[in-house]
Amino acid sequence: MKRSLVLLFLLVSFLFSCSSPSHYNGYIPSSVPSHFNHQNEYSTKVVQKTLWIPSSPRTVVHEVAPLETLWRISKMYGVPVWKIRRANHLKDDIIRIGQKLIIPGAKYFKNVIPLYPSTKWRYIILHHTGTEIGKATVIHRYHEDRGFIYGLGYHFLIDNGTLGKGDGQIEVSPRWIKQHDGAHCKAGGMNHKGIGIALVGNFNKERPTPAQIDSLILLVKVLTEFYNIPPDHVLGHRDVPGARTDCPGRFFPWRRVRLALMK
Ligand SMILES: [Zn+2]
Repeated sequence: MKRSLVLLFLLVSFLFSCSSPSHYNGYIPSSVPSHFNHQNEYSTKVVQKTLWIPSSPRTVVHEVAPLETLWRISKMYGVPVWKIRRANHLKDDIIRIGQKLIIPGAKYFKNVIPLYPSTKWRYIILHHTGTEIGKATVIHRYHEDRGFIYGLGYHFLIDNGTLGKGDGQIEVSPRWIKQHDGAHCKAGGMNHKGIGIALVGNFNKERPTPAQIDSLILLVKVLTEFYNIPPDHVLGHRDVPGARTDCPGRFFPWRRVRLALMK
């Protein structure tokens, strides 16, 4: 019943809303605050930002999202891969979508944003899901059912604390990890050149949470600086010429976001 409700929400949202480059010059932008950690995973760069820290390390259960790896999950919680493997009796590093993993002694939760060298990305398009609840696993399956060959149509999803996800948690879509075109905005050819970021929520009815906005500002800053995307190329879905939608909703706090991006 719960699943049907979720799917209904998503169906309604999809019907009414919807999910390049400058050059990559191989650097981590100097204006990214120094408390971000940058690490190499092959040729990618990774930006990490703490979302919450418990008063003492605690055991949590993590549901595996699309294309998440033990490496990524290890970075999210500050727990070595071998400990996660041992706690879950894993013989290898293979995990599957929806699998519930015990994370022993989680020190924190960090948003982990991978950045891949590319000259493809010239715009950032912002969306809302049009649903009050959501998470990547559910929308991924829904988009797969709709025939989207790579599932989740956005590149990033920012959760609102529903369905077991953190408020302000940034979920990285398989499309981003594989650097595929989006399936979020046909207008203006944005699927080919625009990074699609969706926030869970219906912003015709409510505002994003403060944590969602903080995470959005972080993510957009990191992406615009890394890919050298100018500020006027950060658009709402409805602002793309030819797009017939009110996404990301009339309560989307543009003023707050624009001011933060100028700093
Ligand atoms: Zn949209």
